[in-house]
Amino acid sequence: MRRPGRQAVAAGTRIAILVCLLAGCRPLTVSPGPAARTPVTQTSAPVGLPETSVPAPESSPTPCSAALTPAQTQGPYYRDGSPERTDLSEDGSPGAPLLLTGLVLQTDCTPIAGARIEFWQADGAGVYDNAGFSLRGHQITDARGGYLLETVVPGVYPGRTPHIHVKIFSSEGRELLTTQLYIAGVSDQIPDGLFDSRLLARDEPADRAGRRHVSFDFVILP
Ligand code: FE
Repeated sequence: MRRPGRQAVAAGTRIAILVCLLAGCRPLTVSPGPAARTPVTQTSAPVGLPETSVPAPESSPTPCSAALTPAQTQGPYYRDGSPERTDLSEDGSPGAPLLLTGLVLQTDCTPIAGARIEFWQADGAGVYDNAGFSLRGHQITDARGGYLLETVVPGVYPGRTPHIHVKIFSSEGRELLTTQLYIAGVSDQIPDGLFDSRLLARDEPADRAGRRHVSFDFVILP
């Protein structure tokens, strides 16, 4: 019987090694087994949402960094007891028609509904009614904190640039702000020690009747 030659033995050895490799005879250092893996921390994070240490933002009001409306002196012509009304022009006082609208807000832009907002002013000739209530009135802000005033453009009186006086009270009657408003193109044309550009009402498109429209949002601490 012929014994296998040296070449046949070598070929058989190569085949045996190949079979052994395919069968996993030696350890393969590909990856650690399950026991060597880093433990996974179980969390209650909702499925489908990435884990994060930052809590999800809650729904919040529109960001607002409104600055407080500056206070100003009430002057010598304030009279308590003005009628509740939005139209001061119904008195027929002289002056160019003016529509003033706006909001009363907290610093985070939350509306202050139910606030009492009071206006008084000189007529177009710079004259106050100190006997009656012409060009004097108050109103209550609506759910949006909104107000609307129909009046006339105030005139100049000695020592003062044209302005509209304002007081705002809480729904409980607590005074929250006393200040004055100024009208662009009118109040800022005349030198005045009290004039403050932060109290300048914004110009808005004229209404259908061509009446001048300005707006101002008051920002106060309730
Ligand atoms: Fe005044």
